[in-house]
Amino acid sequence: MEKQAVHCIGCGALIQTEDPDEAGYAPKSALEKEQVICQRCFRLKHYNEVQDVPLTDDDFLKILNRLGQVDALVVKIVDIFDFNGSWLPGFHRFAGKNPVLLIGNKEDLLPKSVKRAKMANWMKQQAKELGLRPVDVLLVSAAKGHGMDEAMVAIEQYRNGKDVYVAGCTNVGKSTFINRIIRQATGEKDVITTSYFPGTTLDMIGIPLDDGTSLYDTPGIINHHQMAHFVGKNELKVITPKKEIKPTVFQLNEQQTLFFGGLARLDYIKGGRRSFVCYVSNALKIHRTKLENADDLYARQLGELLQPPGKAEAADFPALVRHEFSIKEGKTDIVFSGLGWVTVNEPGAVVAAYVPKGVQVMLRQSLI
Ligand code: GDP
Repeated sequence: MEKQAVHCIGCGALIQTEDPDEAGYAPKSALEKEQVICQRCFRLKHYNEVQDVPLTDDDFLKILNRLGQVDALVVKIVDIFDFNGSWLPGFHRFAGKNPVLLIGNKEDLLPKSVKRAKMANWMKQQAKELGLRPVDVLLVSAAKGHGMDEAMVAIEQYRNGKDVYVAGCTNVGKSTFINRIIRQATGEKDVITTSYFPGTTLDMIGIPLDDGTSLYDTPGIINHHQMAHFVGKNELKVITPKKEIKPTVFQLNEQQTLFFGGLARLDYIKGGRRSFVCYVSNALKIHRTKLENADDLYARQLGELLQPPGKAEAADFPALVRHEFSIKEGKTDIVFSGLGWVTVNEPGAVVAAYVPKGVQVMLRQSLI
């Protein structure tokens, strides 16, 4: 008789006992336990250590494609500090006809001065530009629980008795969100793996809801254009804000440059002396220099003074790509996907923003 398939309670991968290098590996002894956890999740949980698992983008896409074939509410989670980086390109096609509730996570990191409604509006407008018309846009902090009651009410309302699929790119806080829902609904703790490391939730995990329907955790798609994928796990801790961001103000003259570690750069080209307000992780060092010295400094100090990337990664770090902007409207944010943004208070500035190839940088109306 065929044995019933067992899934890891951490990541949802199908448990196998043959190949330690493949997803879902667990030693035979682990199978005797009532709740089986794969070795990868075990290590992650107990030693905070990631193991790479060869799950191809194709596998992820296949899993996501199932979304279009079901009749459900899709909850799409994005990281508000990495909106574009954490967007799944073509998501509206995956979702098919299903209604999508868009949730921006990590609200706890926003300074008080940032208007939540403006952030939600911006998300709505961005989603529309990317081809998605969500039924609603909400902000939450899955970690702190802010907005979670409202999110649960909205899910209940929009799902209309159907299953719920939670989708999102890796590292947006999808597992934290689902864990929070489960905990609020049942009192169980940390059922799904959460971590700093992108790509820890595999395959779909079904969580039964009281009425016989299910809440599904879809895998976190790895979006190779995310800033998070250009840095190692220690550096990821530096660029991921842990608590409310404290803006840092720089008074810059024309022809001055700011480096955000070695990950991004902002040249102030023209527009007279003015202030630039930086909203990035408090742990990320911002370095000011003269524009004329910037290239040289970067060439000499990447991985040293300008970290992250760390010393070991500096050699392979992709060259930064320059994007020039002329700021014509009032208060404007220069948004660096995955890092944060810089607010310019008055129009009339010419700047150049640099990010690794594929990472987005864009202007938006300030959220203050
Ligand atoms: P997943 O890959 O989308 O499942 O993301 P995880 O739930 O594993 O979370 C990724 C990272 O974001 C972890 O370091 C979490 O601690 C962090 N995180 C998740 N939710 C929040 C939140 O609401 N606020 C903050 N500040 N961090 C969060």
